[in-house]
Amino acid sequence: MLNFRSMNILFISLLLLSMVGEITYGVPFYVYIILAVVYSLLLFYGCYYVGSNFFIPVICSAKTDRKVVALSFDDGPIAGNTLQILQTLKDNNAEAAFFCIGSRITQNKAIFNQIHYEGHLIGNHTFSHHFWFDMFSAKRMLADMRMMDKAMNSIIGKTPKLFRPPYGVTNPNLKKAIIEGNYIPVGWSMRSMDTVIKDEKKLFNKVISKIKPGAVFLFHDTSNTTVAILPALIKHIHENGYEIIRLDKMLNLQAYA
Ligand SMILES: [Zn+2]
Repeated sequence: MLNFRSMNILFISLLLLSMVGEITYGVPFYVYIILAVVYSLLLFYGCYYVGSNFFIPVICSAKTDRKVVALSFDDGPIAGNTLQILQTLKDNNAEAAFFCIGSRITQNKAIFNQIHYEGHLIGNHTFSHHFWFDMFSAKRMLADMRMMDKAMNSIIGKTPKLFRPPYGVTNPNLKKAIIEGNYIPVGWSMRSMDTVIKDEKKLFNKVISKIKPGAVFLFHDTSNTTVAILPALIKHIHENGYEIIRLDKMLNLQAYA
């Protein structure tokens, strides 16, 4: 499988080959432009597709034949929506994963406590969820991630082990920060796009089309559409013979450090 290292080796080899070819046979200039464009496209794919495993392996689903799926909610906790999600999960006896933002847990301590108290998994989704997080140095990224650990630990006495990259973006700096911080990076196999899709039926149909053994669904606490479709979605999952289990249990991962 192509990753950042093997791609660099491949492209340096192709570049050297083109240069040798240029001396011997004369290689047209557009060959270099094609190489640069293909390299940039692959780099873009590697950064923005969380399941590419381009820079670092990111766990995105479980390899299983069992009819199990995991639900995950990013960017909370927030007043209103997170409580509604918790109520729906409770009503249906389902456990989920919450990849929380540190600054939001300090603002919503009671809700955060409730997430933990009701048996859900909590993962690190940075402290700041800064728009330019992907541009940070590895050192600054790690400091941000550890700030979230500290905030969480001060409230529930546990330190997260699982980390979900903001926007699903990975790069060489994040790889360094993840390794140094000893986190387990976790992605998803189904991005609901619930921050964009406002139509409930459309979102519901998109999500149910991706139900398969071992799937990890990505939702956001901030999405009113997710809050609205969640009861029907869980019902549909159950009616199709699937069990909803906690992400760390489905993926067999250590939840806390
Ligand atoms: Zn996020």
